[in-house]
Amino acid sequence: MSTDKRSAQTLEAEVRHSAGLSRRNVLQCATVIAAGSAAIAMSATALAADAGTAKVSQQAAAYQTSPKNGQRCTDCALFIAPASCKLVDGAISPAGWCKFFAKKT
Ligand code: SF4
Repeated sequence: MSTDKRSAQTLEAEVRHSAGLSRRNVLQCATVIAAGSAAIAMSATALAADAGTAKVSQQAAAYQTSPKNGQRCTDCALFIAPASCKLVDGAISPAGWCKFFAKKT
């Protein structure tokens, strides 16, 4: 069982116990919290990209110097030729890849 699942179950039990809420109400609250967390993470990524500051480290982005599953930096909307990125810090290989890959449209 993952830590997140255990944490969610613990939170659910604590909230239900203290507030006397139904399982359905607790699950609805947990869904709202999870959606909010995802939105905050996406906003942080967008802000970093727009501001051009506080780039994400290569380690945090899981950057690698080789393509992954056919995806490569030259095909990413965040790539800046010849060797940088709007989001990820440091030298970026055109043939590289990271978990923030966003295909050019
Ligand atoms: S794949 Fe990652 S490192 Fe490469 S250009 Fe896109 S965001 Fe930057």
